[in-house]
Amino acid sequence: MPLVNSKELFEKAYKGGYAIGAFNCNNMEIVQAITEAAKECNSPVILQVSAGARKYAKPVYLRKMVEAAVEDTGLPIVLHLDHGADFEICKDCIDGGFTSVMIDASSKSFEENIALTKKVVEYAHAHKPYVTVEAELGTLAGIEDDVKVEHGAESYTKPEQVEEFVRRTGVDSLAIAIGTSHGAYKFKPEQCTRDPKTGVLCPPPLRFDILEEVSKRLPGFPIVLHGSSSVNQEYVKIINDNGGALVDAVGVPENQLRQAAGMAVCKINIDSDLRLAMTAGIREHMKAHPDHFDPRQYVGDGRKYVKDLVKHKITEVLGSNDKL
Ligand SMILES: [Zn+2]
Repeated sequence: MPLVNSKELFEKAYKGGYAIGAFNCNNMEIVQAITEAAKECNSPVILQVSAGARKYAKPVYLRKMVEAAVEDTGLPIVLHLDHGADFEICKDCIDGGFTSVMIDASSKSFEENIALTKKVVEYAHAHKPYVTVEAELGTLAGIEDDVKVEHGAESYTKPEQVEEFVRRTGVDSLAIAIGTSHGAYKFKPEQCTRDPKTGVLCPPPLRFDILEEVSKRLPGFPIVLHGSSSVNQEYVKIINDNGGALVDAVGVPENQLRQAAGMAVCKINIDSDLRLAMTAGIREHMKAHPDHFDPRQYVGDGRKYVKDLVKHKITEVLGSNDKL
């Protein structure tokens, strides 16, 4: 099966009450971990590439690795551009074989966001085969590669804008801001309560009221959540027990993401959790085997941790297992 766009996958996910995981990738081990996990779970999957990943690995390597994963697994895989900043990068990816792109003009005015999104949609939809487009309304706090928004400067999506935005742009899916955030430090400690027993921070709940209102206004339309790592504390503990120093790293609880996946959310972006799992595997290996110097040994352990994490996400959070 060749790479696919997201249209049909989202239609099935919407009807089926689950979401497709969109996992960021930037090296071979991460691509293998994600796609082997998806294969074992019989799940469709989205591999997404940010501007930072393109800089790190070069677009041609990423594309060829993803093509190799398609050939290796036979899965329906979407190759998606995460946070395209302008028309040129979206065009470059569409011309280069991506099957889906995000144009992120969420920091611009409503009218500028519409104009730029529409321009990308017209180009993407005219392409053969059809390339799907995701846009964003509202802004998330946090840091993801080149996208940085200070805590306090984020803004929730305004539900009263979504119908006009989708109608005028023709976009295929929409990322909304309901309280998720980029990075491994999603919330400042003062936004959270602290569990008195474990000392772990509990973040404020997602704004399900906004999601509900958006989905009422856009029936059947796929919604996307960015910044949706959960920063599982077992990985933070492994990292910190093996020489790391991650203090007060906190994410979005998995049960809230599961709830969103049962609603209009069809795509959930997960990046930081993969980074944490990879780092946990490598740090644990390095501490246990100070004499090892073959990268296959420690990166191989990192890959195993990422694969286990992706299987957990697919079966316990996204619900996309056995949906092929
Ligand atoms: Zn994002």
